[in-house]
Amino acid sequence: MIHVTKPYMPDIKKYKSYVDKIYQSGYVTNSGVLVKELQERLALYLGVKNLLLVSNGTAALSIAYKLLELKGEVITTPFSFIATTSSLLWQNLRPVFADINPQSLNIDSKNIESLITKDTSAIVPVHIFGNVCEVEEIDKIAKEHNLKVIYDAAHAFGVKYKDRSVLLNGDISILSFHATKLFHTIEGGALIIDDDDLYEKAVAMINFGYRDGSVKLLGTNAKMNEFEAAMGLCVLDDIGMVRGKREVLYESYKVGLKGRVTFPKVSKNSELNCSYFPILFRDEEELLEVQKALNKRDIFPRRYFEQSLDSLKFLSKEQNMPISRDISKRVLCLPMYYELTKKEQNMIIGIIYEALESFSKTHYKAKEYL
Ligand SMILES: *Cc1c(COP(=O)(O)O)cnc(C)c1O
Repeated sequence: MIHVTKPYMPDIKKYKSYVDKIYQSGYVTNSGVLVKELQERLALYLGVKNLLLVSNGTAALSIAYKLLELKGEVITTPFSFIATTSSLLWQNLRPVFADINPQSLNIDSKNIESLITKDTSAIVPVHIFGNVCEVEEIDKIAKEHNLKVIYDAAHAFGVKYKDRSVLLNGDISILSFHATKLFHTIEGGALIIDDDDLYEKAVAMINFGYRDGSVKLLGTNAKMNEFEAAMGLCVLDDIGMVRGKREVLYESYKVGLKGRVTFPKVSKNSELNCSYFPILFRDEEELLEVQKALNKRDIFPRRYFEQSLDSLKFLSKEQNMPISRDISKRVLCLPMYYELTKKEQNMIIGIIYEALESFSKTHYKAKEYL
């Protein structure tokens, strides 16, 4: 069976040697040596100053909203993973959607300004599939209207914009290190906070508000543990190799499927990290035919993201984002992971070819009869 992704499993001997160390020290959590080591190495690798490891990406989003004291309405993208919107609702913030650009699939900066009201406190864009948002335009709007910007950069590990880390944009960026992501710690995430005072506040906030031995502010528990950090250290050792392999797969998909389906447009001045391989069909019918053909051969791509978030049942306000709803119905992410072989990939491309071919034939015939 081939799924859309498969967690990268590093050398087990190396992982075990870290586990031995954890057993010897008896120190399993609460900002231990491995969490500190991973934090430093990640900051260096990503080219950022202040990086704080946390229990997961969703917690990172929640902490970011609390740190920046968001209230009322937050402008965000309807095309993302559920956590971007649900984390806002979880803190009684009201998501206000700005429709996406049909080429980049990111929030369209041109749609933001008209949504700003006296109740707006922030913008939460997502670098979807690792494709960089219009960071300069968003920054300008935020400055003019005194809004905070939190980038959900869960897909953008290691992505650069104009030769520096994309994570340096906005007030805070968050990462997810879930097992399905490019770099992972089984479960985990990080906050990237440029402001030093805010960073120190975050350090306390993820540990019940403790600072210098006593509770100084309202906090929660969002700590990463030593076993997760050990996994991160092992995966980080291999990240160059993992990315290299994905780049090869990415190029082969592009060459193999060119002219058959549409690819999102890669933003200027940036490079993808090849986390995902999204393709766009002409309509949902075509997508379903291809999906069916792949499923028959035990290949399971994923409809990331099948539901446009403005159509969630538990939203209080009716909102309708036509571009996001249209894209959601005809986007499919193809299998993309380190262990995927060239042979398997060729098979996937072949099945897609065949399915598209027979679909267009029957369609054509149906039209002739009319
Ligand atoms: C994975 C993901 C998250 C949530 O991260 P977790 O670590 O799973 O909590 C948030 N936003 C986006 C866009 C994601 O893909």
